[in-house]
Amino acid sequence: KKLTFHAKENMLLMALASSLVVGVILGCMLRLLASPFSEKQQVYLQFPGEILMNMLKLLILPLIVSSLISGMISLDSAASGRMVVRAVCYYLCSMMLAVILGIILVVTIRPGDRARETTGDASSHDDQTELHGDTGDTFLDLIRQLFPDNIIQACFSKKVTKLILADGEKTNGTDAGAEYKRKLVQEDGINMLGLVVFSLALGVAINRMGQAGRPLKDFVKALADATMLIVNAVIWYSPVGILFLVAGQIVGLEDAGKSLQQLGLYMLTVILGLLIHSAGVLPLIYFLLVRKNPYRFMYGVLQAMVTALGTSSSSATIPVTMRNLQENNGLDPRVISFVIPVGATINMDGTALYEAVATIFIGQLNGLQLSLGKVITICITATAAAIGAAGVPQAGLVTMVIVLESVGFPTSGIAMVLAVDWMLDRIRTVVNVLGDAYGAGIVNHFSEDQADNLSMSDQVPLTTD
Ligand code: ASP
Repeated sequence: KKLTFHAKENMLLMALASSLVVGVILGCMLRLLASPFSEKQQVYLQFPGEILMNMLKLLILPLIVSSLISGMISLDSAASGRMVVRAVCYYLCSMMLAVILGIILVVTIRPGDRARETTGDASSHDDQTELHGDTGDTFLDLIRQLFPDNIIQACFSKKVTKLILADGEKTNGTDAGAEYKRKLVQEDGINMLGLVVFSLALGVAINRMGQAGRPLKDFVKALADATMLIVNAVIWYSPVGILFLVAGQIVGLEDAGKSLQQLGLYMLTVILGLLIHSAGVLPLIYFLLVRKNPYRFMYGVLQAMVTALGTSSSSATIPVTMRNLQENNGLDPRVISFVIPVGATINMDGTALYEAVATIFIGQLNGLQLSLGKVITICITATAAAIGAAGVPQAGLVTMVIVLESVGFPTSGIAMVLAVDWMLDRIRTVVNVLGDAYGAGIVNHFSEDQADNLSMSDQVPLTTD
């Protein structure tokens, strides 16, 4: 007997959740039995996961370009303008709320002060590599990304990290330098914002062409449908990939001994903040604005949340998020195709909260004072740094330089929180993805609510079945 759609989705969710658990168990067992693991063995172990990451990343480009263009073709410019404004307002407000929550928690719990009291001064830390960043440059880079000079290049390169990379190279002699460099190289990827702007423009232009634009319209719509069919197939492979990604991560962990002792309370503060934001603040905003059950909505995107936990990347999770929102939560594909890719790039509630907490923690650890002025500066720069971070693993750690510098805290502090960042990264990525999903739900609600539904009558589904 054929399984129903819901039974299949639940099965997939179960498989994804089990893959996380099995991955952790497998990783721990291998660690116990076959430790130490060489880097090469770790690469072999993570190989099925690497393939998953590649497949997901491969789909992002055709998926967002085709679905955005076909979405815009059936949306008039006033409606799309309203959608953009609503989405951006939501992104900024929700990130600010996350930062404020993080600051309240870290100032109340004082993980850095307590660690200093119990383990002595942080300046005894081995690594004092300084890095440099600039908020002004981050904003310029953001605008620059909106206007790529070469659309082909925009598909595979994004040059937002040059400044910090140069410093990473200078310090290359030390371990920390090498570590930062590795992170920065990972930041190379699709220039999502550039492609979104180009696709929006092309969609609106094709719309204006009327009948003459028909071939292009049919082409992009068919491309969007075909890509979504591939997403449907890839998603069934994702439990396997995630299992090995997680197992590989665990076998590759270094013993963090002393730093863990210092970082325990800090981790708890970050995790508590992320939990309150995702289970309390975001659902509340959704409920107040949409008046529907926020937890049912969250259940619909659980697959995406597990994928985010497994991949540490909101970009790689885009195909799953888009699919979940359309098929489980019934959102308008035109809203999804804009809010999700842009959200995965700039809307990072988890990262914003994390950057604020980590910065103040580093300050506390070094016995530095936090004035009201500094708190306000952190509010602004942590939001900017989260916007500037790419949706790839540990990008937030790199852009934190901006926040630290803005208040004159030592950027070498990044090395102190590095040991546990892999774990916090996974969790904050889940919150980033959830924030994008709620954003799509809210924007969708307002687009339905008002006159927009008139112009949204000609719906273009992302999937064919
Ligand atoms: N890994 C995060 C993401 O992809 C970004 C970060 O905070 O490092 O959303």
